[in-house]
Amino acid sequence: MAVINENYLLLKSSYIFSEIAQRVNKFEIENPEADVIRMGIGDVTLPLPQAVVDSFKDAVDEMADKESFRGYGPEQGYSFLIEDIIQHEYQPLGIELTPEEVFVSDGAKCDTGNIQEIFGLDNTVAVTDPVYPVYVESNVMAGRTGPMGEDGRYGKLVYLPCTAENDFIPELPTEDVDLIYLCYPNNPTGTTLTRDQLKRWVDYARQNQAVILFDAAYEAYITQEDIPRSIYEIEGAKECAIEFRSFSKNAGFTGTRCAYTVVPRELVAYDAQGGKHDLNSLWNRRQTTKFNGVSYPIQKAAQAIYTPQGQKEIQANINYYMTNAGIIREGLKAIGLEVYGGVNSPYIWIKTPGMTSWEFFDLLLNEVQVVGTPGVGFGPSGEGYFRITAFNTLENTREAVARIGRLEF
Ligand SMILES: *Cc1c(COP(=O)(O)O)cnc(C)c1O
Repeated sequence: MAVINENYLLLKSSYIFSEIAQRVNKFEIENPEADVIRMGIGDVTLPLPQAVVDSFKDAVDEMADKESFRGYGPEQGYSFLIEDIIQHEYQPLGIELTPEEVFVSDGAKCDTGNIQEIFGLDNTVAVTDPVYPVYVESNVMAGRTGPMGEDGRYGKLVYLPCTAENDFIPELPTEDVDLIYLCYPNNPTGTTLTRDQLKRWVDYARQNQAVILFDAAYEAYITQEDIPRSIYEIEGAKECAIEFRSFSKNAGFTGTRCAYTVVPRELVAYDAQGGKHDLNSLWNRRQTTKFNGVSYPIQKAAQAIYTPQGQKEIQANINYYMTNAGIIREGLKAIGLEVYGGVNSPYIWIKTPGMTSWEFFDLLLNEVQVVGTPGVGFGPSGEGYFRITAFNTLENTREAVARIGRLEF
């Protein structure tokens, strides 16, 4: 008799997004004339840059020719892409990496979900709250969390609340933790940590022999000087952090799939006897066993981002979204709403005025036909907040902000 992994029974269904879809569907059936603007989109909307498409197509042609056809590539990624990543993403920040420290993959979602496999089940895991659900749920599946309590928290996870009260800066944990997921610029709050604020975490991790799993998927949206683009800008971070990056949000690869993860050579974790083991070798072992690499045309497409034309095109797209972010942020502030994020990130996090996340959702849907995401869907500390994204068109963004401006709070 086959038995299941019962940890899966501890997962709460992705209730939030199905509930949103249901409420919007119901509204649209009852109000067929209504023009609903979707500002909950967590996906890019502009097409791939031309430089990327051209390189992608050329690589497909190579695959069609007997002379240039390629089969399996290196599981870790082609060196042409890895070298460009190091040269363009890390060298300008003064960070030296060797090619063996960079692992190309088909997504930061997979990598942030899979990384926990190389760590023991006894580790205590800390997550910021609200949080990108992948970090939590991959640990639920593995059996590190125990069941969810009445308060919406998994019993064995350590939650680090990030709210207006602490300026969205998580406090260092008071109990011992071993694995710490940090995402900056943050999804969903759009907030960031400065170098000094991130340094406290790096120092904590080094003192406690903990590992930071740093998700930098929104790094390209940073506009302010004192915000680190990579955790390795912080002294000592190579001894305590793994960094996840993605081409999804900076270059529109959400449907194309390409990302990379940095596991520095000096990063170690321990066996039960206290023996040291380097995590780069474990991740390499995991990837070479379970993953066969990203396709050649996609890695060639990604490489085109690092040409002068590619750089210009991806920056233009980021600027487009960040113009939207500014319109949302300033427009909502002007009508007296408390808003966060939107300066170094495409997400704007609104404090709901005297109502719950879902009450605010219903108000916007029913009164002005604007859809966003209730903050409570990202964790208990997201209650009383609401996420709007900058990924819709400029026209729809302007219209949505004007409509919300007609409401009185
Ligand atoms: C979108 C996103 C990613 C990127 O995931 P991919 O699998 O590379 O598309 C990673 N982390 C966070 C927090 C995100 O919002």
